[in-house]
Amino acid sequence: MKAGNYQPDARTFQRRLRHWYDANRRDLPWRKTRDPYRVWLSEIMLQQTRVNAVLDHYRRFLERFPNIEALAAAPLVSVLAAWSGLGYYRRARMLHQAAQNVVQGNGAQFPSTSKELLSLPGIGRYTAAAIASIAFDESIAVVDGNVERVLDRLLGRKLNQMEVWAEAQSLLPPDRPGDFNQAMMELGATVCTPRAPQCLICPVNELCATRGEGSFEKKSSKQTKREVHYALDLRKERVLLVQRSKDSSLMPSMWELPEVQPESNGAKIAFTLRHSITVTDYVVRVSHQRFPKSREGKWVRLEALPDLPLTGLARKILKAAKAM
Ligand code: SF4
Repeated sequence: MKAGNYQPDARTFQRRLRHWYDANRRDLPWRKTRDPYRVWLSEIMLQQTRVNAVLDHYRRFLERFPNIEALAAAPLVSVLAAWSGLGYYRRARMLHQAAQNVVQGNGAQFPSTSKELLSLPGIGRYTAAAIASIAFDESIAVVDGNVERVLDRLLGRKLNQMEVWAEAQSLLPPDRPGDFNQAMMELGATVCTPRAPQCLICPVNELCATRGEGSFEKKSSKQTKREVHYALDLRKERVLLVQRSKDSSLMPSMWELPEVQPESNGAKIAFTLRHSITVTDYVVRVSHQRFPKSREGKWVRLEALPDLPLTGLARKILKAAKAM
């Protein structure tokens, strides 16, 4: 372990990281563009969501809303429907609001500096820096969980928030800042991973103070477990759905299957699946039931399901039941 306030040689670090990134980066659709709308969309989708889960949504979202004007003109309900399955729906609402702000003001010019970007709903320090560096070459570093972990290990000490942003900025090269930022995040996501860093194949191994020794990880919060039961009433190409309250703190106004008590009406479990939302892991039991026609809710045609803002869990259940 290197001692004291160790600093790696910035130029060597930049050169090695860049070579590695050019040869090893994952082939992701948002890396083939510098269109700020597409970069922005990918950054918002990737917040708290795995790359594999984003890929398909990103493609379909762009087919539906190919540019910021199309997104701003769309009703919110269509945007939420396209977002369905990604979770954290507040992101979709903010995205839609931000698109309207851009289109209505400033002659539909996308803000091009991190400072201007910060004024849009849903864009914080990280996202503003990511869009500005990738789409507009602004010399500004990004810090996400991956970058923070790489820097802690590289420098051999737990950095506070102010230090981590300053260290990231001090390593940033003057050219291709967007690629450098993505390379730092890619290193954290694929090599300098939380539990088992692959130091033997790490491109900056010789510059690293710890080479995986010691732990700077915060303890992850404990997941809680819960069992929930839903009823599936599927008949004549229609399914009964209910809408969540518009005041609900989680997924307001979105559509889902009726939640029921275990074994209500003596119904047998048809299938079980697992679902996680933030810190809760759900065991989801689904039973077929027949409700009276008068039951509160809406009978939705199966062909209309893709256009409805469904919760991710409702979509998962309906797919498992081959209803969509
Ligand atoms: Fe992370 Fe290991 Fe590379 Fe250091 S040598 S940056 S600990 S992967």
